Amino acid sequence: MIEQHSITGLVLAGGLGTRMGQVDKAMLPLHGQSLLQHIVQRLAPQVGLLAINVNTPTEQYAALGLPLWPDDLPGHCGPLAGLQSALRRAGTPYVLSVPCDTPMLPTNLSEKLAAGLLAAEADLAIAVTEEVDAASGERQRRRHPVFCLVRTSALPQLDAYLASGERKVSAWHGPLRVAEVLFENDLAFRNINTPQQLAALQAEGLSVDSAQAMLADAVVPVGEIEQLPVQQALGRVLASDIISPISVPAHDNSAMDGYALRGADLGAGGSLRLQVVDTVLAGRPGTVAVSSGQCARIMTGAVMPAGCDSVLPQELVAQLVQQAGASEIVFDASAIKPGANRRFKGEDLMAGQPALRAGKLLGPAELGLVASLGIASVAVRRRLRVAFFSTGDELRPPGEPLVPGAIYDSNRYTLMGMLERLGCELLDMGMVRDHPDALEAALRQACVQADVIITSGGVSSGAADFTREVLARLGQVAFWQLNMRPGRPMAFGTIAADGHSAVLLGLPGNPVAVMSTFYFLARPTLLRMMGADGAASALPQLRVPAQAAIRKKRGRTEYQRGIVSVDASGRQQVRVTGAQGSGILRSMSEANCMIVLREAQGNVAAGELVDIVLFHGLT
Ligand code: AMP
Ligand code: MG
Repeated sequence: MIEQHSITGLVLAGGLGTRMGQVDKAMLPLHGQSLLQHIVQRLAPQVGLLAINVNTPTEQYAALGLPLWPDDLPGHCGPLAGLQSALRRAGTPYVLSVPCDTPMLPTNLSEKLAAGLLAAEADLAIAVTEEVDAASGERQRRRHPVFCLVRTSALPQLDAYLASGERKVSAWHGPLRVAEVLFENDLAFRNINTPQQLAALQAEGLSVDSAQAMLADAVVPVGEIEQLPVQQALGRVLASDIISPISVPAHDNSAMDGYALRGADLGAGGSLRLQVVDTVLAGRPGTVAVSSGQCARIMTGAVMPAGCDSVLPQELVAQLVQQAGASEIVFDASAIKPGANRRFKGEDLMAGQPALRAGKLLGPAELGLVASLGIASVAVRRRLRVAFFSTGDELRPPGEPLVPGAIYDSNRYTLMGMLERLGCELLDMGMVRDHPDALEAALRQACVQADVIITSGGVSSGAADFTREVLARLGQVAFWQLNMRPGRPMAFGTIAADGHSAVLLGLPGNPVAVMSTFYFLARPTLLRMMGADGAASALPQLRVPAQAAIRKKRGRTEYQRGIVSVDASGRQQVRVTGAQGSGILRSMSEANCMIVLREAQGNVAAGELVDIVLFHGLT
């Protein structure tokens, strides 16, 4: 197997950008960020180190914080010059090259090429796809030689090829062994050469996976840390590792109520008689040494007496003989093995080892664990300040009469509940009218007071015009069309006012869409800003058979509201809650789970397994 860390990823951005009118292709914007950022986000999780081959780096390149490697050969000789530079500098046994204009590149590119290279014992592996020829209807293989995993040891061949004046990406390998690795989805290899292609890609919308990766990439944890008593730390995120000052358990101890004895006394089995010389209780260690032929009455958790290494559970005692203050037990020595029912010192945790890592979200178990180590206070990140408001002229607060055409503001209440559960510090800014000045004033105030601003409504294509204009005035905000349902429109970016900046998450207006975009996009973003590790933000998913067929459109992720139940034979199954309209909040309340139907998935047949995320758990 080729380990991920032995691969250097290389983004080839060394070209002159002549095809799109002298613009630097890598910097073209797609969904509010550069093509290069898309590539980096997709490739970074697949490789050990990532570098960019670029000959005229701008600030935008430097901002990525990655090594920037120019061609060693003069005169812009094309991708091979970039590959040559990388093979010379990488310091890993493999380099994986990709072009800078293929923002949809496969997320399993590295893994598949590595497997193909090894299987064929090749020096390089390149991606190929199959396409159906429009004229003949035949399947044709298309090679993508720039998507190439190559052994660093191939450098002499590349040096010689370039020295001979040749430049062909498809032919440089000469006598080296090439593995061709077939990828199913040829669309993943699409590159951008014209403004029309870029516009087409933009119009396709953004996948949930990509949006999640973009969000994760764009935010960092809040810096401030506070020291809190354990009792006040529930729901907070640890700011540093907790190193155990003690071993747990602190001594070898008994796992049962019974008799502590010497394992050597058990001998070859048969009936055994031992004299009871002491009683040890939890919290009260023994006072006498236990010799051969003796034992001590012991309670669960009590310290093992010196010399003893085994515990006979009391229910295995055949006879308890008591006479004149002395007592003896009789039992079958083959009933236990030497070492039985003894817990070792440090079995749970050794002194000096990390009991919990920074980034851990503290739940009830963690509070107990910290306390069990004798630690009374912990360093945690400060709470995330989240300002939120609803937008829309049609909104009225609950408790007031409804005029014709108006609706009650419900989003602010669901948002409040979800944010409260996440442990954020809430700043409820009420309802904001659909007017540029009102919106700007609200955003400015929120910016000063909060780390994050969450809004609902005003981002759908019809509504977005003035929102777009106001947000553009205050910062850099992208308007996304997500391939998800419910929850197509969303805005994301950073805005600034009066020397303060804040992350903005503009959620859709439809009440169910607010919840789905919150849980699957905002929640991981907020947790990341809270400093929580990936485990905290990963929602546990289960696979359950569908009770009946579910309609699902391919090409978008659908979050359908589901009810998990147990059928007559005790098996779990899930059904949808009926009408799935994005305004039907009742469907959320009736449901006990979300059915997560992936982008590539089509209609679901009855009995087919689907992924679900349960609403309620132990946490
Ligand atoms: P918008 O994107 O602002 O056009 O909103 C989309 C839909 O969601 C409209 O039908 C709105 O009336 C509805 N909506 C927007 N905000 C809220 C809210 N705070 N509570 C309930 N429904 C809302
Ligand atoms: Mg609105």
